[in-house]
Amino acid sequence: MNILVIGAGPAGLMFASQIKKLNPQWHIRIIEKNNQEESVGWGVVLPGRAPHHPANPLSYLLDHETLDAQYLETFKLTHHNDSAMKSTGVTLCGAERKSMIKALRELCQSLDINIEYEQPVLEEAQLAADQYDLVVVSNGISHTTHFYREALKPKVDFGKNRYMWYGTPQLFNEMNLIFKAHSSGVFVAHSYKYSSKMSTFVVECSEQTYQKSGLDDMTPEQAEQFIAGVFSQELDAQPVIAQAGLKWRQFMTLSHEKAYDGNVVLLGDALQSGHFSIGHGTTMAVVGAQLLVKSVHEHSQNVEVALQDFNQRVMPVMKLFSQHAEISRLWFESAEDNMHLTTPEIAQAFAQRRASLPALPEALEAALKYALKR
Ligand SMILES: Cc1cc2nc3c(=O)[nH]c(=O)nc-3n(C[C@H](O)[C@H](O)[C@H](O)COP(=O)(O)OP(=O)(O)OC[C@H]3O[C@@H](n4cnc5c(N)ncnc54)[C@H](O)[C@@H]3O)c2cc1C
Repeated sequence: MNILVIGAGPAGLMFASQIKKLNPQWHIRIIEKNNQEESVGWGVVLPGRAPHHPANPLSYLLDHETLDAQYLETFKLTHHNDSAMKSTGVTLCGAERKSMIKALRELCQSLDINIEYEQPVLEEAQLAADQYDLVVVSNGISHTTHFYREALKPKVDFGKNRYMWYGTPQLFNEMNLIFKAHSSGVFVAHSYKYSSKMSTFVVECSEQTYQKSGLDDMTPEQAEQFIAGVFSQELDAQPVIAQAGLKWRQFMTLSHEKAYDGNVVLLGDALQSGHFSIGHGTTMAVVGAQLLVKSVHEHSQNVEVALQDFNQRVMPVMKLFSQHAEISRLWFESAEDNMHLTTPEIAQAFAQRRASLPALPEALEAALKYALKR
């Protein structure tokens, strides 16, 4: 089989490495628009301990220990400068995004998969079935480069809050959620360590707070200082650091009703993205990639049948993911309404925000169990 993968993020690299392991004779080409060093964001939270958890991409690496991933078992919520701690219930893994992508890239290269960096965006005609049996579009959600296929009924929504993905050398040993009342409004930080030296520090606030605080008119350096001041107690005089070129923005959710059209199939964020507050995007990329591997491997004689099978299995889990992510996004968009609550009350409201939905981890476990059955 001749396969083109567009985008060398977790989804594309996971799919390419796992399908190639099963079919070493297949030809797989990966193209990536950025260079090898570029990677958006700091650390992400992943499920379980590597190498035991199949939804954790680190489990597929031979040398996952070199990533300096951090395991988290405690959740800490801070509100009115008062904290409540409880168990996360499951082990979570904080990992640096750049190192994880580098390790997945090296895994692909060790399997003789060619990855071409700094590639121009391909024209539609270059994806035709006479050139590739299968084209996997795993190009994430960027604000500029999508593959819009009307047949797949794409939908784009923007959240109301503004957010910024900072990193900080302050080590947050728990999964932290910090609510901070400020004269310009409420700021919320989501923070946890992802290496022995750094933590992720995602901050969000309403548009009104964003405008009133003056963040819109600040230089990136002024914004870093302002946010470090808002969370000075938790940051303990450590800075927050923004990646060059990254701006405060509204979260973009990209959804589709169908995963494939002809020989082109969507994977990862390019198929369904979901709000960062549930920390599942990379996990969904792994689950989607493994389901696609299963369908393509089992129906390699007929790509149409393979993609039909994939569509049927992946869309229900993507729908559930999108419901969980939407409920969570909306909850954070109304954070100001909850500021009058006591710390135990807001902790309870946070824990309950997705309770009306079927559990996502169980659905993902079932999907992976099926996908990994050989
Ligand atoms: C603030 C924030 C916090 C998050 N926290 C977490 C978390 O804690 N846990 C978690 O699991 N997820 C988290 N996520 C989500 C996670 O980062 C994504 O879901 C995940 O990266 C999706 O992987 P992907 O491979 O589909 O897309 P991406 O990682 O976006 O990779 C897509 C790749 O395609 C490339 N590309 C784009 N266009 C083209 C093109 N036309 N041609 C070639 N290449 C192209 C891009 O350069 C990129 O390398 C977070 C997201 C945000 C915004």
